Amino acid sequence: MPELPEVEVSRMGITPHILQQRVTKVNIHNPNMRWPVPDEVYQITNLVVLDVQRRAKYLLLKCELGSVILHLGMSGNLRVVDKDEPLKKHDHIEFIFANNKALRLNDPRRFGCCLWQQPDQCHSLLSKLGPEPLTDEFTAKRVYEQSRNKKVPVKQFIMDNAVVVGVGNIYANESLFKAGIHPKREAGKVSLARYQQLVPIIKDTLAAAITQGGTTLKDFAQSDGKPGYFAQQLLVYGRKGEPCMMCKKALTEIRLGQRSTVFCSQCQR
Ligand SMILES: [Zn+2]
Repeated sequence: MPELPEVEVSRMGITPHILQQRVTKVNIHNPNMRWPVPDEVYQITNLVVLDVQRRAKYLLLKCELGSVILHLGMSGNLRVVDKDEPLKKHDHIEFIFANNKALRLNDPRRFGCCLWQQPDQCHSLLSKLGPEPLTDEFTAKRVYEQSRNKKVPVKQFIMDNAVVVGVGNIYANESLFKAGIHPKREAGKVSLARYQQLVPIIKDTLAAAITQGGTTLKDFAQSDGKPGYFAQQLLVYGRKGEPCMMCKKALTEIRLGQRSTVFCSQCQR
């Protein structure tokens, strides 16, 4: 599933091809995404893309009359190709630009979405989101204060979009391992000092993934391949039963909130 780093790399990958370009046509080949694609998105026709922004895992193509909101769901990807390039299976939505490029959303499982936001509005999907992890708004103090009296496991707490956006399952597993925090520990019982360790680790882990993904930017303008997904070096995620990189003890896997949770029972307390 595309996580925040993949979405940010997608933003970086498509931006140079579509920024300040006029949209000449919108083609909705299949409107049956997670939510039906509203007719309002056609309003972007003949407008110039003024900015390509990201909020959590949503991308916004900002124009004078509003913004197209795109989400990659479980299996989506975006790429920019020449407009005459034949469509691929699952290319559901495309925006054609005056520079003869086409931005195409390909999504086999159709859990992604394409929605519209008025300029003076914040879409309900975006209005309740917590801070961006890579901004100064996401601080240990804020997380600590928000966590008091919370009995939910710290892993689920940091994956809650109201606490901070974009900490997906992989990044929660990896960050808690690096911080030495047991994923099941009650969020309200994690000290400020430990959140002061964890928060910079989350930031570094996400930033490193974005940097690594930056090497794939050229893929966004190629017609083959699957841009937006990149292999990462993982310390615990997907390594159940393998030795801990710190102490060599076999890593344990449990389910937390139905998500695979891998940790070292010796290094994480
Ligand atoms: Zn260990």
